Amino acid sequence: MNKCQVCGAANDPKEIRCADCGVFYPTLAELLAAEERYEEQQTLKGFLKRIVGAESIKQGVCDEFKMFKAGLSNTALFTLYVIVAFIFALLITVI
Ligand SMILES: [Zn+2]
Repeated sequence: MNKCQVCGAANDPKEIRCADCGVFYPTLAELLAAEERYEEQQTLKGFLKRIVGAESIKQGVCDEFKMFKAGLSNTALFTLYVIVAFIFALLITVI
């Protein structure tokens, strides 16, 4: 059974609309795509993927760092700097 996101009513997973409130359910593909996008943004995997996808790894790391820096407090910034430095060192060792 699927649970309606809006009214909470249980519905047949095959239905594309809630029988109770009439809201359309997002399809599984849409949900997966959204989940993937979120993961790309939030996780280390997405972070590394962006870095590796950049023109050069160094450039990628710089871009990521600038992106992080844009919206963070000093403490978070320092923590992230340490993480980025660690990942960078790790990448250098692997390559
Ligand atoms: Zn509903």
